[in-house]
Amino acid sequence: MRILLVGAGLSCAVIGRRLAEAGHDCRIIDSRPHIAGNCHTERDGETGVQMHVYGPHIFHTDDAEVWDYVNGFAEFLPYQNRVKSTTQGAVYSLPINLLTINQFFGKTMRPDEARDFIAAQADLTIEDPQNFEEQALRLVGRDLYEAFFKGYTEKQWGCSPTELPASILKRLPVRFNYDDNYFFHRFQGMPKDGYTQMIAAILDHPRITVELETPYAPDMADAADHVFWSGPLDGYFGYELGRLGYRTLDFERFTHDGDYQGCAVMNYGDREVPYTRITEHKHFSPWETHQGSVCYREYSRAAQPEDTPYYPIRLVEEKALLEDYIAAAEAVEGVTFVGRLGTYRYLDMDVTIREALDTAATVLRCIDEGRPV
Ligand code: UDP
Repeated sequence: MRILLVGAGLSCAVIGRRLAEAGHDCRIIDSRPHIAGNCHTERDGETGVQMHVYGPHIFHTDDAEVWDYVNGFAEFLPYQNRVKSTTQGAVYSLPINLLTINQFFGKTMRPDEARDFIAAQADLTIEDPQNFEEQALRLVGRDLYEAFFKGYTEKQWGCSPTELPASILKRLPVRFNYDDNYFFHRFQGMPKDGYTQMIAAILDHPRITVELETPYAPDMADAADHVFWSGPLDGYFGYELGRLGYRTLDFERFTHDGDYQGCAVMNYGDREVPYTRITEHKHFSPWETHQGSVCYREYSRAAQPEDTPYYPIRLVEEKALLEDYIAAAEAVEGVTFVGRLGTYRYLDMDVTIREALDTAATVLRCIDEGRPV
């Protein structure tokens, strides 16, 4: 079969590879001048540092098959994400853990004492949190919420945390020990030569062709037996029902001689600081040595039509529009919508790969059995 895959990010690379290995011809197009979508990494021309061009990407998963899969295409080196937060005039450890709690409240509590202390702060009258703020108040109480989550979240999402789904906060744990590993997954690491190199290896198959700086045009689909769409879900329909909200990021690059902040990611919890975080990229590759350092101040804002979409907002009130688009997508024959933009979900890289592997398996089964894809 002739397959058209729109977008050269993780989803289409993984699906394309599986289909190519099964003997199908895959044409992958991308409007940008590089592969790898928002995972794209490249060396900084001035310092040689491996840059996470679209912001920090740390690979972590509990899925052994996904971990094996990525290790088949890149050498992963151990990397643990240890994030700090500057708020209210001090630096703290994230995710909120026993060190954060003891430092913030000026105490020396042991785990059980801290658990009771936080339980007393938490608003347990909120039985079933309906939004981000309720989830945070129930989990950690008002003081920690205001220091670490409220300002950061207002900057990151451009709206009140009461309008955001509780699920966003569920990404972050609260720990009553001194474990400051941001992720609680069995496997975590960083591809030694960057994500773009890994995705290039996935795409390196004789049945795959990649065309960059090639926007999608409807006549391309006419020449294909099936299309995988990893662009924005609403974009496929020309935004005819309205626009789904996305946040985009602006990065202000600056260099520094030596070590600027001593860690890869420093969050800023205060509302008055206009950026959400500073990323110092060389710390993503601690096995490399670089004299110079290059950092990004990260600013979040509402995406305009011409901007790169990063985060689907999924405002509580946006649900109806999303459901209409999902119904429209299900009604389209010959097109499968995949990935973070194509399904309008806040997906991590490992989940994206898991879904892509499953999608490819389902499609191949349909083809084998002569059923419509
Ligand atoms: N968050 C926060 N303060 C922080 C870090 C995260 O309030 O210091 C909230 C914020 O709303 C963010 C969400 O938790 O969007 C998820 O955080 P994560 O670090 O997973 O975001 P990502 O790295 O994917 O941007």
